[in-house]
Amino acid sequence: MSKKWVYLFEEGNASMRDLLGGKGSGLAEMTSLGLPVPPGFTCTTEACLAYLGNNNQLPGGLWEQVLEGMEVLNKKMGRRFADPSDPLLVSVRSGAKFSMPGMMDTILNLGLNDQTVTIVAAKAGDRFAWDSYRRLVQMFGDVVLGVHSSRFEEIIKSVKAEEGVKNDTDVSPAGWQKAVKQFEDLIAKEGEREFPQDPWEQLKLAIEAVFKSWNGKRAIDYRNATNIPHNLGTAVNIQCMVFGNVGEDSGSGVAFTRNPANGENDFYGEYLFNAQGEDVVSGARTPTEVHKLKEEAPEAFNKLMEVSSILEKHYQDMQDMEFTIENGILYMLQTRNGKRTAAAAVKIAVDMVEEGLITKEQAVSRIEAFQIDQLMHPRFDDAVRKAATRLAKGLNASPGAAVGQVYLDADTAEKMAKEEGKKVILVRPETTPDDVHGMLASKGILTQHGGATSHAAVVARQLGIPCVAGCEDIKIDLAKRQFTVAGHVIKEGDTVSLDGSTGEVFLGALATVSPSFADQPYLNTILKWADEIRRLQVWANADDPEQARRARSYGAQGIGLCRTEHMFLGDRTEKFQEAILAETDEEFQRVLDEVLLPLQREDFYGIFKEMDGLPVIIRLLDPPLHEFMPSALELTREVALLEGAGKTNTPEYAEKTHLLSVVTDLSEFNPMLGLRGCRLGITMPGLNKMQVRAIFEAACDAAKEGIKVSPEVMIPLTSHVNELKHIQPLLEEVAKAVMSEKGIEIEYKFGTMIEIPRACLTADEIAGVAQFFSFGTNDLTQMTFGISRDDAERKFLLRYADEGDLNILPKNPFQTLDERGVGQLLFMGVERGRKTRPDLEVGICGEHGGDPESIEICHRAGLNYVSCSPFRVPVARLAAAHAAIKNKGH
Ligand code: PEP
Ligand code: MG
Repeated sequence: MSKKWVYLFEEGNASMRDLLGGKGSGLAEMTSLGLPVPPGFTCTTEACLAYLGNNNQLPGGLWEQVLEGMEVLNKKMGRRFADPSDPLLVSVRSGAKFSMPGMMDTILNLGLNDQTVTIVAAKAGDRFAWDSYRRLVQMFGDVVLGVHSSRFEEIIKSVKAEEGVKNDTDVSPAGWQKAVKQFEDLIAKEGEREFPQDPWEQLKLAIEAVFKSWNGKRAIDYRNATNIPHNLGTAVNIQCMVFGNVGEDSGSGVAFTRNPANGENDFYGEYLFNAQGEDVVSGARTPTEVHKLKEEAPEAFNKLMEVSSILEKHYQDMQDMEFTIENGILYMLQTRNGKRTAAAAVKIAVDMVEEGLITKEQAVSRIEAFQIDQLMHPRFDDAVRKAATRLAKGLNASPGAAVGQVYLDADTAEKMAKEEGKKVILVRPETTPDDVHGMLASKGILTQHGGATSHAAVVARQLGIPCVAGCEDIKIDLAKRQFTVAGHVIKEGDTVSLDGSTGEVFLGALATVSPSFADQPYLNTILKWADEIRRLQVWANADDPEQARRARSYGAQGIGLCRTEHMFLGDRTEKFQEAILAETDEEFQRVLDEVLLPLQREDFYGIFKEMDGLPVIIRLLDPPLHEFMPSALELTREVALLEGAGKTNTPEYAEKTHLLSVVTDLSEFNPMLGLRGCRLGITMPGLNKMQVRAIFEAACDAAKEGIKVSPEVMIPLTSHVNELKHIQPLLEEVAKAVMSEKGIEIEYKFGTMIEIPRACLTADEIAGVAQFFSFGTNDLTQMTFGISRDDAERKFLLRYADEGDLNILPKNPFQTLDERGVGQLLFMGVERGRKTRPDLEVGICGEHGGDPESIEICHRAGLNYVSCSPFRVPVARLAAAHAAIKNKGH
């Protein structure tokens, strides 16, 4: 017996998503709940994989099982597929495990042909029959036989022009009949073959076309962008047709149990009278608001409300449903967990906990890290918005502010963004799945037509790209490469600003502001719950009081890394150069005491004040000294110019040549492996001593004012325990001296960064001296891979990793911790360190500390905290909770 490739809806359920796809398992589940679902069956994803894996041949037994399934449908419906006197019609729709809106293919009204269309016309009316048939030929021609959809649209346009009508619904039956004839001729001329009149052949070809669409370009692009694996395949659903286009008491719609844009708990959706489902999602006709159904079709509306409430309770999540009303009777065609904006996601999750529908843990699990990112995104400044020239207002389809240059087709948009580095706003009459590559490359999307559930809106929302849809005020002229609106002509390359939250379009570039974190109660509630769940603490990398304040306001529980060299950036660099250029020891010490010490003390005091009550890790100077000096290349050029101009006797020449000799002296072939980190501190102890003095003077001063300080002094780049044994006692001595001078004792720690493989291997020895470890995974990755963190991306790493053509590494190891390699060292470092010092505090302060996947590894490694840039603190709080949930019981 052959494998089971086909499942009737009544044989499946929601847990069979892998096998039946999202749509198929949803239809099966709704069927088992007794909801009004037209009968049907699903060909499995395994059948798709078998087909694609066997040179596009249907696997043995599949067709026979389809025939058996069709027999069941025939019996249920009391009419037969392919019966010339009273044909049953079916739809064929794709449905992968993860929803890929519009990316794969659908064909409706299968079973009609030149002969049966007249029978249907006699029974159900001319308009319905010919409208249904033209849709079949059009979709079949496009999806199965490879004739571009625009070719059919051209014919429809000319038919409408001949009849002098504007809408598809106004075309006469004779008009559609004419269109069908022209479609068939077009297919015969340009298609892979003629339109098949045999319904069984239609069915077989349609199933194959859906299987093949899994590997279509737009589906692959979409999967790449959304991290959906390529090896899942799609299921195919074959279902008895119900018709939304049989007259004014019929129609099709899409509805959400809650508002997917803002999360409000009100029924939300769109409906088109006298239309099939494709009309709603394509955006070609602008639909009406679903609540209008209450007056127009009250019974169906009440039933829809009842069904949606059953479904939301059953799935315990917001549902996105497709339905059709045929002669006043409701049928459900799809349900799935609805895609939503980040703002809606947090509101719905919090509301559902308060309604007792889900637990706090479920709520936290449902929010994805990227959604938190979106909520931290900029929006337009209110004052700027008021003063700006508003061009138009459309639907607020996907929130966020976007500023960029207008481009009018997906290819150009992608090219401008990728090759010319432009910020692009893609402007289209409406978007289709073929535009996805251009949408992905754009900062914002503006469409002239289409509703809030149109393809553009759905995709943009999911990708977090601001989108204004259905903006009918703009008139696009593709031939002239421009659009006109409110008396303005906007040409390609001109700049506009879009507000996807309000639907407004503005002229020129508007300034944006960062959102206020504190003003987002739902986000904060989710993060508060995440805090209750997570074990890892979240600290921040902050180099000044301002960053520390921001980090704390985002929920940081400490500073995990203050890079003291960053305190000498900008106009302070010269002050540091004064120390490097000092010609005597006395002069060097004077600059340290009089110039650098007060600056550092003031910065540290500011940070302690902001972080009152929380630990602050301050790292002693790390980079090689040449980083504070002008480049040797630049100096050589300046010296040569002076020589060329005969100015060798000037003070300027003397100064530049001196600088050049110092810089040449400092230069190294491999500076990242050179005189930096603790090696610098050991060979020039004055620098570190000054820094420790500044830390303790600031801490003691703050403590005297009642601020609770917990300084932790971090020694960078240790490779051998003897380095710590050498330098740490000298520095502790300074700390004690300051405390005794100030007459106050404070709690403090001395510890080290672990960023050299040898430090991980000998962590047991190092922990004998260091009271804490912080993994510097930037350097640790660099040194473990032997890949330069400064040059590799530019030279080869982008080709190696992620979507690079060489495909050597799954991810960029400087973004996501390489668990197999660098991760082993991390685990080893923690284990060996704690063997010596069981209460050793261990954290991470490399860039990986803000990356959700790496945070999960840190959780498993038993770290105390992750430390990341202030803006990533909220994401890290959530990711740490996800890690705890995922590893429960471990
Ligand atoms: C690291 O190496 O991971 C680190 C945090 O230090 P830096 O990036 O300053 O070298
Ligand atoms: Mg480092």
